[in-house]
Amino acid sequence: MKAAVLRQLGRLDIEDIDLDGPREGELRIRVLASGLCHSDYHMIQGDLPTTLPAVLGHEAAGVIEAVGSEVSGFAPGDMVITCFSAFCGHCHECQDGNSHRCEDKPGKPTNRAAGSRLTRGGEAIYQLGNLGGFAEEMVVHQRSAVKMPEGMPPTSAALMGCGVLTGTGAVLNAARVEPGSTVAVVGCGGVGLNAVQGARIAGATRIIAVDKSAEKLELARTFGATDAVLAGPDAVGEVLELTRGGVNYAFEVVGSEATAHDALAMVRTGGTLVLVGVAPMDARLSVPISTFLMSEKKVIGTLMGSAPFQTFLPKLAAHYLNGNLLLDELVSQQIPLEAINEGYAQMAEGKVARSVITF
Ligand SMILES: [Zn+2]
Ligand SMILES: [Zn+2]
Repeated sequence: MKAAVLRQLGRLDIEDIDLDGPREGELRIRVLASGLCHSDYHMIQGDLPTTLPAVLGHEAAGVIEAVGSEVSGFAPGDMVITCFSAFCGHCHECQDGNSHRCEDKPGKPTNRAAGSRLTRGGEAIYQLGNLGGFAEEMVVHQRSAVKMPEGMPPTSAALMGCGVLTGTGAVLNAARVEPGSTVAVVGCGGVGLNAVQGARIAGATRIIAVDKSAEKLELARTFGATDAVLAGPDAVGEVLELTRGGVNYAFEVVGSEATAHDALAMVRTGGTLVLVGVAPMDARLSVPISTFLMSEKKVIGTLMGSAPFQTFLPKLAAHYLNGNLLLDELVSQQIPLEAINEGYAQMAEGKVARSVITF
């Protein structure tokens, strides 16, 4: 099958590779759509470590072609979405309702001689997150996938597995934004737009989108932003002025030191900064401790929507089918697998919300 393989940092190569399975507990999926997420870009650029060679891609939707032994709840023909947050179901975090923090993530292909489900001429190719969505087919553990209801277009459904889950979950599950709150979202790409619509769904009355692109700010209004502020030296001052002293919740979705500090400065007394964006490993937030003592500001982090994807994604799907959650509007363009490097170049330039590979 065809896949985009990362062998050297900076670019992906389209190669013909072999895929083993499904074996026990696994699903073989024909990929229909796979989103270009920013965290894969960090790995392509070397900002986040990964094993090479690798097939990246973790925002995928597809149809089950075959199931292995010991699989329950899935059958060939089912439409599924895959997710990073594979869960074991029996560790402390899973038992406690936080399976996105599973301590014993299943899915590692330890039963293969090559050590991977993906190989080329016997050489193991690493499968990012035990998924590897930039390929025509995937073999994944059954607890890396969730069935989707009828009526979801695959291009939009694919985005739910990471960007939509992360952005809406930061608001609805991590921060638990209350109705009537004021919110700022710094960075309005694929994840930020979902923080914006998460805030709308939560009932926030003031939702301020902050981005360096006027086009993305316009798009943010479609998703529920009530105000738009162009990123730059005056952005913090503008947010403080619009809200007479700051927002209840600021979401940092860029993943940089500068925007994290700005977002914290936008938070009012008693408010919360939520760190959502994936930052380089050496990025730091350095703040005087007195900030927190004198003003009771809080800083929290969020991982993969801060909820079990297997129950949260069906809720989001219901919001989509009710017309409450915009997904189709997130897809800036559909591209073939061969155009993946160009797709990432456009993302780096900040031109597109989300490109989706369709097969
Ligand atoms: Zn677990
Ligand atoms: Zn992602």
